[in-house]
Amino acid sequence: MDWKTEFDRKMSEFPGVKVLPEEPMKRHTSFRTGGPAARMAFPKNTGEFLLILACATECQTEPLVMGSGTNLLAPDSGLDRLVINTRDMRKLEPGPQPHTIFAEAGCSLRQAAEFACARGLTGLEFAHGIPGTVGGGVCMNAGAYDGEMSQVLSGAMVLSDMDITYLTVDALELSYRHSIMMEQPRTYVLQALFRLEPGVPADIRAKMETLMSRRKASQPLEFPSAGSTFKRPAGHYAGTLIEQCGLKGLRVGGAEVSEKHAGFVINRGDATSADVLAVIREVQKRVYDKTGVTLEPEVRILE
Ligand SMILES: Cc1cc2nc3c(=O)[nH]c(=O)nc-3n(C[C@H](O)[C@H](O)[C@H](O)COP(=O)(O)OP(=O)(O)OC[C@H]3O[C@@H](n4cnc5c(N)ncnc54)[C@H](O)[C@@H]3O)c2cc1C
Repeated sequence: MDWKTEFDRKMSEFPGVKVLPEEPMKRHTSFRTGGPAARMAFPKNTGEFLLILACATECQTEPLVMGSGTNLLAPDSGLDRLVINTRDMRKLEPGPQPHTIFAEAGCSLRQAAEFACARGLTGLEFAHGIPGTVGGGVCMNAGAYDGEMSQVLSGAMVLSDMDITYLTVDALELSYRHSIMMEQPRTYVLQALFRLEPGVPADIRAKMETLMSRRKASQPLEFPSAGSTFKRPAGHYAGTLIEQCGLKGLRVGGAEVSEKHAGFVINRGDATSADVLAVIREVQKRVYDKTGVTLEPEVRILE
């Protein structure tokens, strides 16, 4: 029996848990590209997440856990695997200590920042405009405008080899776009605990609006993308290097290096993941040939 048949049989005992067959990844990625995931499951809470993962383990299939898909490039041919999409795990509540917030993995960073603002808690303003989830944000140590997750996290409840543990921010090993989840692929974020500071809601709101205006002014938000395509190489800015190499507007099929921000590869409307990947590889080659700098994708390229 193949893993899908076995997985379907096991999951049929839990009809309340949403699982979709052959679900197009392009519906769930911000590039709007990618073929079907063999199965996509949508747990509503930690219990359902555990259940789905237990079934997957029994079927000997290793799932991909995703949030908003804002940092993923999925193959056009699809993924012959289970994708666990956390978008329905969205509980947000005050944490156990003053000025703390518990957020489930699927809460958007925007929701978490709004929740904090409404309670007069400052610190998450930088995350308000990052279009990912709390789980994806912790995994990527997402950051912007001098803020990053490592500065505001107390820790996270993670599931590792079917054990739920609380990892402190130090144990999460957060550094530039890096976390322990990247070293230990079977470690998943269930909830994050943010430690914030008291602030004035009007000031918090004003800062979020200022940062959003800066984003709108500098980023091609009108086109699908995954934000900055490449990590910042030591001593450089990827966008500046790409612009200096004359690569703005470089196009393959429907994918293009944005004219507005050279660090973004955008989907002009009909791009495939292969188009996006071809632009990424061409940019890497030309920047390396001209400057000797290796650009490493920030976007997670799935196979
Ligand atoms: C317009 C735009 C602007 C952006 N601006 C920024 C920015 O300013 N700063 C920045 O850092 N990023 C930015 N990004 C990139 C992206 O939003 C972040 O990397 C974000 O943290 C990804 O979250 P996600 O939920 O979409 O994760 P996904 O793209 O779904 O997944 C990303 C990675 O996290 C893993 N993951 C997701 N959820 C979990 C979980 N619960 N447990 C374990 N692993 C998990 C996935 O397996 C994958 O490896 C931008 C993207 C776009 C489209």
